[in-house]
Amino acid sequence: MNTESISKFQHTFSQNPLNRGETERRDEQWISDQEHNAKSKFMVLHNLNILVEENDGAKSIAWLSQDEIKNLTYQERPVLLGIQYDITHFAISISEESATFICTDARYEFLDARTCAGLVAPESTGIIAQARIQINWHQKNKFCSVCGKPNNIFRGGQVLRCSSCKNETFPRTDPVIIMVVTDKNRCLLGQSRGRLSQTNTYSALAGFMDQGESIEEAVAREVMEEAGLEVKNVSYHSSQPWPFPNTLMIGCHAEAKTTDIHIDDEEMISVKWFTKEDVKLALKGNNPELNLPAPLAIAHHLIKSWANED
Ligand SMILES: [Zn+2]
Repeated sequence: MNTESISKFQHTFSQNPLNRGETERRDEQWISDQEHNAKSKFMVLHNLNILVEENDGAKSIAWLSQDEIKNLTYQERPVLLGIQYDITHFAISISEESATFICTDARYEFLDARTCAGLVAPESTGIIAQARIQINWHQKNKFCSVCGKPNNIFRGGQVLRCSSCKNETFPRTDPVIIMVVTDKNRCLLGQSRGRLSQTNTYSALAGFMDQGESIEEAVAREVMEEAGLEVKNVSYHSSQPWPFPNTLMIGCHAEAKTTDIHIDDEEMISVKWFTKEDVKLALKGNNPELNLPAPLAIAHHLIKSWANED
């Protein structure tokens, strides 16, 4: 798929070039034939880390053939990712023993998806997101949520059907809203408890959407919860698949209706207003008081597009 024509922003973990084969995957015989087709390619995961290979100093996803995976131990059925140039692409999750075995070949190593995304071609990051999310979802949904009996895989992994009560489960994506709130020449950024708290790193506020809530309502609620501000004029910017574990980041801008900050001490360490000058310096890496998220994350682009507008 040419994603350049459908989005202004080419985020990491998007731009998946595979045709997901919505028609083909309804034919179980076709899937089985493709699993055993010598042309098919298999992406290999272990503990949700991705097998990459190095050629002439460049890293890429290691796509193995049916012949190369036949002695590896992996889950019952490969997950069907999609088709490109008439070649069917699958993902498998292999055992500890098989992972040790395959890494005896010095070309190969397993890397976590975030590290991997910074090294491989941009369009490969979309495939990494799809594979990591699907494999993780399968590992967590082996049994029916209604009656507890084992689930069976259909449509190459897009449907799990209970072996007893026939209840069907479909792949899940959790929407998270992430927003930069602005007040004329300044924007609101926060430091949440946890990973970023030891540095001067501030990012856009974010939170899971609640059930039965619009994107705009979720933005208003989260900003009120984390910073005690009212907002208006929420606008959509772009979205980013985020495979940790199965999130869709929905990037927004909003204008502040009130500007006095009252932070939620349980979730946030600090929430502050930063001027456009502060942010522009930080984007260039020249602001010792402020580190911003790397371009890997949608937060970087939300902040940048506000800072660079007239
Ligand atoms: Zn069941």
